[in-house]
This record gives sequence, structure tokens and C-alpha cells, in this order.
Amino acid sequence: MDDLVADLQMLIRQPSVSAKNEGIEECAKLVQKLLKKSGAKSEILRLRKGVAPIVYGEIKSKQNPEKTLMFYNHYDVQPAEPFDLWDDPPFSGVKKGNKIFGRGASDDKGELITRIKAVEAYLKTTGDVPCNIKFVIEGEEETGSEHIEDYLKKYKKKFSCDGVIWEFGYVDAKNRPIVGLGMKGLLFVELSVQESVRDAHSSLAVLIKNPAWRLIEAINTLRNSDGKILIKDWYKEVSSLSKNDLGIIQKEPFDENVFKKEFGIKSFVGNKKGLEAKKALVGDATCNIAGFVSGYTGDGAKTVLPGNALVKIDFRLIPKMDPKKQVSRLKKHLKSKGFSDIRIKVFHGEAAARTKSSHPFVSQVKAAADKSFGKSILNVSNAGTGPMHPFVEILKAPCISIGSTYMFSRIHSPNEFARIDLLKKTTKCMCMIMDNFGKN
Ligand SMILES: [Zn+2]
Repeated sequence: MDDLVADLQMLIRQPSVSAKNEGIEECAKLVQKLLKKSGAKSEILRLRKGVAPIVYGEIKSKQNPEKTLMFYNHYDVQPAEPFDLWDDPPFSGVKKGNKIFGRGASDDKGELITRIKAVEAYLKTTGDVPCNIKFVIEGEEETGSEHIEDYLKKYKKKFSCDGVIWEFGYVDAKNRPIVGLGMKGLLFVELSVQESVRDAHSSLAVLIKNPAWRLIEAINTLRNSDGKILIKDWYKEVSSLSKNDLGIIQKEPFDENVFKKEFGIKSFVGNKKGLEAKKALVGDATCNIAGFVSGYTGDGAKTVLPGNALVKIDFRLIPKMDPKKQVSRLKKHLKSKGFSDIRIKVFHGEAAARTKSSHPFVSQVKAAADKSFGKSILNVSNAGTGPMHPFVEILKAPCISIGSTYMFSRIHSPNEFARIDLLKKTTKCMCMIMDNFGKN
């Protein structure tokens, strides 16, 4: 594990900003080099020109060729801007005490390096791995993993496996890793109304309808103030949380007061408290106004009647909600309420994914996390979204997220860092996961 830090620094020093197509090919080649150095066979897979390649790695197990564990990661990073807020250049990979700084230090190059080093250590000390290992390392995660589904379909056979370790995993403020079993889905839409061909003098509001009012009236029918979505059949296929899941949620630490203080809020949606708040984070759907634009919002007063209004809405989806079905339900809803004039544009649809807490893979990963960190926390579903659904659907494999990312390591922000103590612990944890998975 001696070169863990040096190899991570080398990876950080190769910029790989997918949003700007900066250094993507170069970084893919570097990752392939690191995989080969670890003892894995590696190749660069392509979908077509203009799409970032996937770096694929494989090690066949001599002792247990029947079982395959996949590590899913990404080599691309978020843009480093704003540059002037960084204490050191974002791609310098500078080490200060227990921390390595740089864009991608935690997300996701730090996570990737722990997995490569775990495999390398195993091969070096035993000459074998306890199960087959596959690495699938994509280059478009930070721009929405647009082609991961196509890649999974094209290379379905090559990628076949019995379990997937997800690209990231958080470690909380008390050094407990979170073993995550799922991600919520997402539906992102834009609703807009065009009433007149241009803005008008607001005295004409007696005659010309105001599109902002129109849009407010429409979106006011989408949910109630407790957060429940009022679109017909929105929850039709959804099943309630299992007893097992409820037990896990109950055990999960959540300090309401610290959370409220952090955001400067007095109460939660629907005045949820305690267990209800925790259940919502794991298992509730949302209808969130991400932004609303219409008319004049500059300094002082301007008596204007806007010609159009636009709102962007994100819906978090929970398991069994099909984004396509939900779009048609939303359209039907608006029509049935008399809002046929509202235009709908769909930007993104992604289904939720969740691995059953009773799956043996869960206890194998949890046991490894407990042993290497002293204690870990099970989480039924992350409140956020990732492209986990195509993995579960196409590869039919359970997915679990566990990793080395300290929860306040400023990912996506200036001065992102990775903690070396956590990188080392996580590398050991990955070895134990391979062990528990291969030998059970
Ligand atoms: Zn990220």
C-alpha cells in the first residue's frame, strides 16, 4: 500500500473534466496503466466516437472462478472552478498531513485507488484473488452517466457479475462508514406558459392573463403542503417499507437539531419529527421547485405584465416508479385540471434502485465494514440519485455503496480532499469484502 498516496497524486495531476472534455483520453490511459500495474488485465472499451471510453479491468480467480465482484467507478471529475477559492492549484495533488488535496481526490479518484490497491495487495501477498474481479470505470459520471446504460447493454456478457460495489461511499463525522443499499430516481422537467407575444404594461392585467399566475395555479395542484404528490396514480406501484428496512432506519443515527441548525430552519416539511424524518430521507418521493422565472425581479419597482413564465421541477422517485409512466401521469394530470396550455419539457428520467437488506451480499459487506472501521451504519437508500438502476436491471446484480469519502471532504467544491487514514482503512475493507464475498 506504500504507493497508494503517490498513485492517487498522479491520478489527481491528470485533469479529467468531462464537462469540458479535458484530459479524458489521457486519464483513461493512466487508469489502464494503474490497473495493469496492479496485476489486472485491462482494455479500453468504446461505444462510439465522441463518447468517453470505459476502462475495463479483470482478474480471474484461480481458487473461485464461479463468483464475480465488480467495482464500478469513474475517472472523470467536476470542473475545478472557481479557481481563486483553492488554496493550492486544483490539479496539484498536494499532501498536507493526513490529507491529499485536489479535484477528484475523493470523488472519485480516491475511491478508485482504494479498490485498485486492494486487488494489488491481494495479488502480491497470495498470488490470487478470492473471487473474479471486474473493474468498470466510466468517464461521464459527473455529466450524468448519459451512456452507461448503452455500455451495460453492449457489454452485458463481459460485465456479468454477482455483486457491484458502487463508486462512492461516505464516512460520517464519527468515522463510521455508511453501507448504502440504494439510490432514489429522478425526473427533471420544465413547465412553461406563453400567454402574450411580449411583456405588457401591467395596467393591462385587467384584460391580459398573467402566465405567472397561470403557472402558479397549475403547480399548486401538484402537491399539498405536507409534500404529498397529488398527481393521480403517482404512488400506484409503490410498496411500503419492509419491517426489516424500518428496523434499519430506526437504528440509523440522525441528529435533527444539528441538521436544522446547519440549514437555519425551524421545522421540517409536514412538521415531520424523529423516525418520520428519517423515513422521508430514505423512502419519500418529492416534487421540488428548482427555479421559477417570470417578469421583473431586478432593483426597485417595474409595473410589468410578463409574457411568459417558466418553472423547473425535480421529482425524486422511489422504487417501482417508472420515469416514463410518471411523465405521462403528469401530462394527464395537467390536462384533466384544465392546464392543456402548459408546455412540458423533460430533461432527465432515471429510476430508483435498491438492494434488499436481506440479500447475503449486504451482510458480507457490512461485516467487512464493521471489522475494518470498528462500526458501520446501514442505509436503505441514499436521498440522492445515481445510475444504479441499469446495473440492477441489466446485470441483475445487487449494488452496495461503501467507500472512503469523508462526508465533509468538499467534493464538487474548492479544496476537495481525501483523508489518508480513511483511504488506508477502506483499502483493507475492500480486501475483506472480496474475502467475505468469495468465500461465502
Ligand atoms: Zn461527483
